[in-house]
Amino acid sequence: MPTMATATDRPGAAGAARARDLPDDRQLVGLDDGHLVPLAGGGHLHPAAAAAFEKLRTEARAAGFDLAVASAWRGYARQLAIWNGKLAGERPVHDDAGRPVAMADLPLPEQLAAVLRFSALPGTSRHHWGTDLDVYDASALPAGVKPALSPEEVAPGADFDALHCWLDERMAAGESHGFYRPYGVDRGGVAPERWHLSYAPLATRLAPRLTTALLLRSWEEGGQPAGLSALVDSLPALLARYVAVPEGWAGSRATA
Ligand SMILES: [Zn+2]
Repeated sequence: MPTMATATDRPGAAGAARARDLPDDRQLVGLDDGHLVPLAGGGHLHPAAAAAFEKLRTEARAAGFDLAVASAWRGYARQLAIWNGKLAGERPVHDDAGRPVAMADLPLPEQLAAVLRFSALPGTSRHHWGTDLDVYDASALPAGVKPALSPEEVAPGADFDALHCWLDERMAAGESHGFYRPYGVDRGGVAPERWHLSYAPLATRLAPRLTTALLLRSWEEGGQPAGLSALVDSLPALLARYVAVPEGWAGSRATA
């Protein structure tokens, strides 16, 4: 199965990760990977999320879909490289319409807003938790072709629409084994990401633990993100806008 995993997405020797254990603070911010187990076909998740995902995958197969993982756990170092690369102009930044953003022409707060629309601040990515993953239907792609994770792929009638409609139905019926869409609707922060699923039974317990104090400690240990001067002043507002997700985990029914 094709995956987008890179060396930094692969945890080292998996310890004795146990389904009943919650990630500790360093794991919550992507600085430690001892809470993970490997998924069949690539990627890593918390054991409880991994077990639930395999059930969902089995049921998807029976419905005619190959529920595949584009990206599961991602560590702090990888998120820092993405973040710094975008702010340095070394990685492309796009607007909602898919047009390139001329970063060098923008003041720093607007640069940060453009990056935050599609990329999490290092330490705040839900992909650090081991509860969240990006999925696609591998049976809808030619062998070996990787998904782009773009809005076009998940639009009505597009390659992965049928899989996501099936997932919507499962979530609405309460039969998604705990998975929901934290970014299913546009609340003005992170752009809608239909491909991003989250394991609610764990994720809803982890989200409140991500405080500004923990985040500042993670930056100290893991390396400071670019744009830090503007970030520190507006951190509580940034966390509220880009990280917090409303309660009520049937994401397809989330209120605006
Ligand atoms: Zn994602």
